[in-house]
Order: sequence, then C-alpha cells, then structure tokens
Amino acid sequence: TMLPDCEDMLVENIVRPFHLSDDDYKKIMDLMLESFNKGLGKESNETARVKMFPTYVRAVPDGTEEGDFLALDLGGTNFRVLLINLKGQEVTMESKIYLIPQHIMLGTGIQLFDHIAECIFKFMKENCLLEKNLPLGFTFSFPCKQKGLNKAFLSTWTKGFKCEGVEGNDIVKLLHEAIERRGDMHVECLAVINDTVGALMSCAHSDRNCALGLILGTGTNACYIEELPCVELWDEDMEDPNFVLINTEWGAFGDDGALDFIKTDYDKHVDKHSINTGRQIYEKMISGMYMGEIVRLVLEKLRRHGLLFQGKGSEELSTRGRFYTKYVSEIESDVDDGFKNTKQVFDELCIDHFTEEDCRIAQYVCSLVSTRAAYLASAGIACLLNKMNRPEVTVGVDGSLYRFHPHFHDLMMEKIQQLLNPGLKFKLMLSHDGSGKGAALVAAVANRLN
Ligand code: ADP
Repeated sequence: TMLPDCEDMLVENIVRPFHLSDDDYKKIMDLMLESFNKGLGKESNETARVKMFPTYVRAVPDGTEEGDFLALDLGGTNFRVLLINLKGQEVTMESKIYLIPQHIMLGTGIQLFDHIAECIFKFMKENCLLEKNLPLGFTFSFPCKQKGLNKAFLSTWTKGFKCEGVEGNDIVKLLHEAIERRGDMHVECLAVINDTVGALMSCAHSDRNCALGLILGTGTNACYIEELPCVELWDEDMEDPNFVLINTEWGAFGDDGALDFIKTDYDKHVDKHSINTGRQIYEKMISGMYMGEIVRLVLEKLRRHGLLFQGKGSEELSTRGRFYTKYVSEIESDVDDGFKNTKQVFDELCIDHFTEEDCRIAQYVCSLVSTRAAYLASAGIACLLNKMNRPEVTVGVDGSLYRFHPHFHDLMMEKIQQLLNPGLKFKLMLSHDGSGKGAALVAAVANRLN
C-alpha cells in the first residue's frame, strides 16, 4: 500500500537534520582541533570557548598509593562523600549519597558549601572518623581555572547549578571556610579534580596505556595527557615529567558558532530554554541532561503533524523535561519482543492510544538522536587520539549514558575506528567509580609529595 511509505517520507522530512554525513563529522574534527589549539595558545586562550585547562595533575598512579582518603564527588545528579582505602591494586570504599535540594543548587555559595560541610560531618560521624586527620580529594566537575592542585577557581556553573558568589572564587578556600565554620572535624583538601581526570586516573591504575578520560553522563567532557611544550598556557616549571593532564571542557565547543551548520531547530529550542543559553552547545547535542528532551521535541512535532498517536498526545508528553534520557535507552533496548519497554514508556507518559507503527517510529527517533550523539562524541575522541598520535591509547569512560545506553559503546567503536588516522589503536574502558577512586589517587600522590 502507498500509505506507510508516504508516511515514512513525511517522518523522514522531519528527522532529516539528524542524519550527518562522514564529511560533516570530518569537518567537526577539523573545527575541534582548531578549538583545542586556540584554547592551548597563551593569547588565543583569552577568547577561546574551549578552555583547555591545565589540571596540575602530572603523574599517573603507579600502584604504590596507600592510605585512607576522603573524597567528595560533586558535579551532576548525585553528591557523594566517600572513604577510600588504597593498598596497591586493592581499593576499598564506603560511600554515601546526599541530596542537594534544588533551592541549594540555585541558592548562594555559602549555603552550598555549608551543606557540603554538614554532609562531610555526618559521614565522618557515622563512620567514626571525627578523631582522624584525613586528606581529601575533591571531584568537582565544573570548568575551573586551576592555579595549583588544590587551588581551583570556578569559571562558570554548568549542568543546572547556579549558586551565587562562587564563580571566580577558589572552591577549595570556600570548602575549607565552610569546614572551619562547621568545626569539630579534621579534613584538608589536597586536590581538586574533574570527573574526566577521575575516569582517566582510575583506569590508568590498572592500564598503563590510559591517556584519555571521557564523561558521558549529565554532561560531556574529556581530558587527555598533553606534552608541556604544546601547552603555551603553562607557566609553571618545565621539569620532568614533561606532561600535564588537560581538562578540555569540550562541552563548550560550538559556543562560537562552529556547530551552527549542523544545529537543528530542536537543538535551538533546547538551548533557548536552558539556564545557560548560548553555552555548552556540543554538550547539549550529546549528553543525558538534554537527549531525552530533544527526542520529546521531535515526537511532539511528529504528533502535531498527525504522524504519531493519530495526532493525540498527553499532558506528560507536552511537558518540558518529562521525557527522560533513560527512556531512550529503554526504548532502544526493545528487540523483537513486541516493544515491551516502548509500551511501558508510553504508559508512563499516559499515552494509551498507540499502534505498533507508533512504537517503530518512536524507536527510530530515539536511535537517530542517540546515534548522532555517539558519533559527535566519537569525532571529539578521534580528534584527540589523532592529536596525541600515540600508537595505543586506552580511553577511560564514565557516565550513565555510556553505561546504560544499549548501543553507545558499539556506535563509538565503529565511528572512532573510521575517523582515526591509520596505524593508531584504541580501546574504550569502563571506569569504575572514577570520581571517588580518581580523587583518592590524586590526593595520595599529592600527599606523598607533600
Ligand atoms: P553525572 O551526573 O555525574 O554525570 P551520571 O553519569 O549518572 O552522573 O549521569 C546522569 C545522567 O545520565 C542523567 O542526567 C540522565 O540523563 C542520564 N541517564 C541516567 N540513566 C540513564 C540510562 N539508563 N540511559 C541513558 N542515560 C541515562
């Protein structure tokens, strides 16, 4: 019959902007390399959107790290306090998740850090640690300009945080002041790291080839090992070791318009309704905080055109942020089983008037949006791998999007392979508890050098 084909074409018209060609991805790699180099240059860095922050991390773990460490993990969905014991390859940890209420995420810096100090206190009390003197590693996953391993000035909030009076300030100082105000505990923050650094360090602990860390969670970001002569920004000593980890903060790629040639109306809509309009453009096309919303906008458009649910939606489907990114994983996990998950998702969205064809279309939309995300991230990774030009690199990856999406890993393996310079080899390795273990490892190295 004509109808389905004709309908398919109408659907195809609406989703067309998500299909990108190999040339598009190659162009993105070229533009990214330009952005990375601009960020690394001493003068060009001032106006660069991709900041390429030197992290002051200049050693990877060698497996001799030992002792008890506290770690904090702040930078997305959950705030955690951890106690980590390192003993060579043996790592044990206790951890507890604490909520950061919305009014604190959007409140003042003092409130935020007082809340953090209170959580540390509770954690130490519960674990009988209040008598101890503990070094702390802080995984703080927001763009920071560092002036030392434990001197980190927040550039700008991202990912839904907006606390007054923190941007431009040293977060270690704010933390120490709050700990002081709380009193009755002995904690010193020795290192601030990014979650990308945590992913890299935790994988490097067991794989010496690990030279790149990648996050695909609420946001996206990457860090890699760069040689000092390439880091014009570096104005510290040039002694051995001759490298430093660079936190690219690549989520901001495209903030100068570089990605305008692939931006869809859905991307523009997501950006316009975010709390950081005009910023983190690459991140908004890739990461978990935004992917579900992009899918929702496409589904809504299809519905309005009568191509989905016979044109009839629901209040839930019309609600911003109500289509969670985990739905994308669930829907794409349906294979030959009568769309069990997809139907469950529709049910949660109070849609009961759907056909098998609706399920197929929804699954198709999810796969287009997640595939574009995986390929965009792959372009970034291939760009860094080509730049590093090491024969074999392991990429340490963390984040729920990578971990739980059924095809993200395979899509990335295929695309990176295709975009990589001939002769180079790579692996993608899942990082386990990078934010905790990584912070402890960096604190341990700092403690040793102290
Ligand atoms: P972080 O906030 O530190 O990045 P995660 O790595 O857990 O923490 O990422 C959380 C994000 O991952 C959520 O914002 C959500 O969008 C996304 N997410 C959660 N579960 C899934 C899932 N099953 N599939 C895909 N994405 C998910």
